[in-house]
Amino acid sequence: MTTVISGKLLSANKRLEMKAQVESFPKKYGRLPKLVVILIGNNPASVSYVTGKENACIEIGILNNTIRLPEETTEAELLKLIDDLNNDSLVDGILVQLPLPKHIDQDSIINAIKPEKDVDGFHPKNVASLYLKQPGILPCTPKGIIEVLDSKNIEIEGKRAVVVGRSNIVGLPVSKLLLDRNATVTIAHSRTKNLSEVCKEADILIAAVGKPLFIKEDMVKEGAVVIDVGVNRNPETGKLCGDVDFENVKDKTSYITKVPGGIGPMTITCLMENTIECFLKHVEE
Ligand code: NDP
Repeated sequence: MTTVISGKLLSANKRLEMKAQVESFPKKYGRLPKLVVILIGNNPASVSYVTGKENACIEIGILNNTIRLPEETTEAELLKLIDDLNNDSLVDGILVQLPLPKHIDQDSIINAIKPEKDVDGFHPKNVASLYLKQPGILPCTPKGIIEVLDSKNIEIEGKRAVVVGRSNIVGLPVSKLLLDRNATVTIAHSRTKNLSEVCKEADILIAAVGKPLFIKEDMVKEGAVVIDVGVNRNPETGKLCGDVDFENVKDKTSYITKVPGGIGPMTITCLMENTIECFLKHVEE
């Protein structure tokens, strides 16, 4: 029997809890949390992600300011803006929507954000905290994946987990989080030999590849838990789809997430959680 885990429903419940929590902040701390999102240019995917973040802030009651800047914005201008926001005592979280135009060095920008306001968890200090098991801000998508597993009490300890993808924002950090929960983790990538066989060993299979319908039925063990992180366009239908061939894979799984409505909403929900976390540390400083 397969259960399709709805990240959308889980998100809706978590957002209700956060809304109630945020409502209590003005009385306790004298103000609301504030997230500033910086969007450079008009990349349609980025515009849509930023809108999702704005809507989540409105839903929860977090103050949001999206600063929209033209494509020609220079690195120096962006660094100056980040410096101002770092020093603004009423700003709790800063997010620069990626990818950036080619003339701006992404690493310099991420490094410039104060780690305590780095709600994406991409600053090297927060990355180091994850790997050293120290307190820090966790990246949103990996955090959301673990929350999805926990929402169904899916046992992680002792399980074989296979993560397909080794990016800094998804594959690597989710592998570390699974390892910290005592899974035995294999990280697969484009040079992995016999990928199907490797995937078939997974009790928990995380697909973070970025290739539409890449994970097929014959790559999945009977009863596996399958988490689909991919956000792609189906080349045939033009519709949004994941990395997993959901229709053909689902019946083999015990639990599976769907695209859309799976990890996507949970990523934004975890961004809201991180903003609240940064706010609470900030006001309690
Ligand atoms: P990257 O492109 O940075 O990484 C993709 C990974 O997949 C790489 O490690 C790559 O291997 C591996 N890969 C590519 N081709 C193959 C192959 N044929 N066999 C095995 N492994 C392969 O992507 P991201 O990690 O940033 O994102 C992955 C997907 O998740 C994308 O669809 C993205 O849109 C989506 N995403 C969704 C989010 C959400 O909120 N739902 C958030 C972030 C991302 P190698 O390292 O060897 O090149």
